[in-house]
Amino acid sequence: MSKIDRREFLGAAAGVTAGVTVAKTEKLFAAPAVHISNGTPDNPIAISSTNGLRGVARAAELMADGMDTLDAAIEGVKIQELDPNDRSVGYGGLPNEEGVVQLDASCMHGPTRRAGGVAALEGIKTPSVVAKYVLKYTDHDLLVGEGAKRFALSYGFQEEDLLTDASRESWLKWRANRGPNDDWVNAEPDETLLYRPTGTINMNVVNPAGDISSVTTTSGLAWKIPGRVGDSPIIGAGQYTDNDIGAAGSTGRGEANIEVCGAFLTVENMRRGMHPTDAALETLRRVAHVSEARLLDDRGRPTFGLSFYAVNKNGESGGASMWSGRNHAVFDGQEARVRDSAYLFERD
Ligand code: ASP
Repeated sequence: MSKIDRREFLGAAAGVTAGVTVAKTEKLFAAPAVHISNGTPDNPIAISSTNGLRGVARAAELMADGMDTLDAAIEGVKIQELDPNDRSVGYGGLPNEEGVVQLDASCMHGPTRRAGGVAALEGIKTPSVVAKYVLKYTDHDLLVGEGAKRFALSYGFQEEDLLTDASRESWLKWRANRGPNDDWVNAEPDETLLYRPTGTINMNVVNPAGDISSVTTTSGLAWKIPGRVGDSPIIGAGQYTDNDIGAAGSTGRGEANIEVCGAFLTVENMRRGMHPTDAALETLRRVAHVSEARLLDDRGRPTFGLSFYAVNKNGESGGASMWSGRNHAVFDGQEARVRDSAYLFERD
């Protein structure tokens, strides 16, 4: 059966079923939202990882001018994708272990309840926009690798070298110092590479009409195994929006997030009436609870970092991290600022 035939077939089948069960279905879907909305914000609200300070201001400004929430959020994160100095996102992002930049991104549009994502995308500076094209122009949620690139090229995206001189130098240093028994002559150690660099940008927005969207974009874990896909392009992990409730997304150890569907869980926690900050903390508790022993310290605390950022339909927002000392960016309706994140564990 061709794709078109199959879609028509599914559509027809759904119509038949709906005729029989519509009353029941309406009840079923009307009931579970425990969350009582107190209305919507007076001004646009945007929350993101700290690197999105310029981005939340931009997204809020564009929403105030009437731009759609997803378009505005993507304009916000694009600032980081195009910034060669942000080593965690888009152009200038740190590459995989073979020196190739592979990008992940996903987005959700509350009003239409649609989602799109790309993973392990090479050569395109703005994967968040390609993710939006997947959402807008296809019947799919996620395109990966070579197929994602060909899809982007078909829409006129330019293929470019995403390695900057600085990111190539970082990668060459990492490779040179990789192990005591490799064949590379050691390089002068680089302090900024002592810990494995991480980063990503997630942004979640709501406008005065109560429309909500979310987007996450990243170059992923530096020096990753080629083909490794993190949480950012996974809908429900890297970001998630429910236009009745709110949106959430994350940065940090993607594997830990994927294993609890963290963005989805945070939105579900808000649905149960939790403030965005508490909803994010509750998700982190779940992560800590299910983490494997090899990832815990001698007091049973996860050794990795993970952060969530969330906003609800009312415009309340909050961020929480596994460890103290982290923050996030917010446009609170008045100004863009950096705000401390709540945390599960205090650093000694
Ligand atoms: N979450 C990203 C990933 O796992 C990395 C990060 O945020 O640092 O790919």
